[in-house]
Amino acid sequence: MFSNYTIQRFEGIETPFYYYNLDVLKQTLDACRDASAKYNFHVHYAMKANFNTKVVDMIQSYGFGADCVSGNEVLTAIKHGFGKDKVVFAGVGKSDKEINAALDADIFCFNVESVQELEIINELAAAKGKVAGVAIRINPNVDAHTHHYITTGLDENKFGINTWQLNDVADALRKCANLQFLGIHFHIGSQITDLEVYRTLCTRINEIQEWFEDHGFAVKILNAGGGLGVDYYNPDGNTVADFEAYFEVFHKFLTIKPGQEVHFELGRALVAQSASLISRVLYVKNGLKKNFLILDAGMTELMRPMLYQAYHEIENISRVAGDKENSLIKYDVVGPICESTDCFRKDVELPQSFRGDLIAVRTAGAYGEVMASNYNLRDQVQSVYSS
Ligand SMILES: *Cc1c(COP(=O)(O)O)cnc(C)c1O
Repeated sequence: MFSNYTIQRFEGIETPFYYYNLDVLKQTLDACRDASAKYNFHVHYAMKANFNTKVVDMIQSYGFGADCVSGNEVLTAIKHGFGKDKVVFAGVGKSDKEINAALDADIFCFNVESVQELEIINELAAAKGKVAGVAIRINPNVDAHTHHYITTGLDENKFGINTWQLNDVADALRKCANLQFLGIHFHIGSQITDLEVYRTLCTRINEIQEWFEDHGFAVKILNAGGGLGVDYYNPDGNTVADFEAYFEVFHKFLTIKPGQEVHFELGRALVAQSASLISRVLYVKNGLKKNFLILDAGMTELMRPMLYQAYHEIENISRVAGDKENSLIKYDVVGPICESTDCFRKDVELPQSFRGDLIAVRTAGAYGEVMASNYNLRDQVQSVYSS
C-alpha cells in the first residue's frame, strides 16, 4: 500500500528503484525479536537475503547475529558491528581464502557441509594455531514442501552431510585437534509456509542429537536454519510472518537439554515485505492474443520470477482499479532485457495502463536487490527509503 504522498514522491525519482519501507522492516523485526525472546531462542540474520546497508544496520541494532555464506559476508557482518561471537559461516563450497578470512575474524562457528571440509578447516586452523568452532550441517531428508528449486534438505540436494556418513564425521572430529565441535545445523529450504514441515524437522533433530550424544559428543547448539515463508499474495493484509507460531513449533517439539542453545537463521521472513521494486511502463504493446506492458525494470533488477518461477504481486500505482474508465485488462508484464524469460508474470489483471505509469512489484525485499546484475550493461539499481 502506498500513500498518495509516497506516490507523488516517486513521480520525481528516476526509475527503476527499490523502495524500502523501514516501518515495515521495524514492525517485522519487533515481532521476530519478541517471539524468539519468549523462548530464549537466538536468531541470526541470513545476510544473503539482503545486504543493503540500511537494512543490515537496522537488523544489527536489534541484537541479532549474522548467518553468512561467503567470506565477504563474514567481513561485511563484522564491519556492520555484528559481534564475532554471533557470526556463523555456512556454505557448501567455502574456499581456503574464505576460511582463512573467517579464522582471522575469530567467528563463532563454521557450519560444515562435508568431511573433507572438516579436514581442511582443521588444517588451516592448525596453521594459524587456532581452534575453529564447528557445527555439522546435516541433511535430514525432510521435504520442505516448497518449490523444488529452493528445497535443500533432501538426499538428492548438494547441501549438508547425509546421515549415513555420520560415522565418518565422528572419526574426523576425533582426529582433528584444531576443531571444537559445537553442535548440529539444518537448513531444509526456503519459503516454507507449512509449519508441519518444521515439526518433522524437530523429530529428525531430536534423533540426530541423540546419535551424537551416544557417540560421546556434547551438542551445545541446535541450529534449525531458516526458511520461514512470507505471503507473496497478500503483502498488505499479511505483512508480518507468523513468528509466534513458527517458534512455538520448536518450543513444543524440539528436545532442548539444559544448557543447550537453539539457533535460527532467518532471511526472507525478516526482509521480504519491506521492499517493492518500483518501475515505469515504457511501452504498451497490444498483440493479437496478448497485451504486453514493457517495464523499465527486468530480470537485472529482480530475478526471482525468472530464476525460480516466483510469484510477486504487481500493481499499477498510478491508476485506481475499478474506475469506470479503468476496466481491468490482462497484461504480460515484461522487462526490457534481451531474454524471452525476462517476464515478471503473465496475464496480470491491471487497470488499463499507459506509458509512464508507475508499477510496483511487491514483496521484493528478499533475494531482490542482492541478485541484481549489470547484464546488458544496465545501470546499478538504486534504493529509496521511507523517511
Ligand atoms: C539462505 C539460507 C538461510 C536463510 O533462508 P531464508 O529462506 O531466507 O530464511 C539460512 N541458512 C542457510 C544456511 C542459508 O543458506
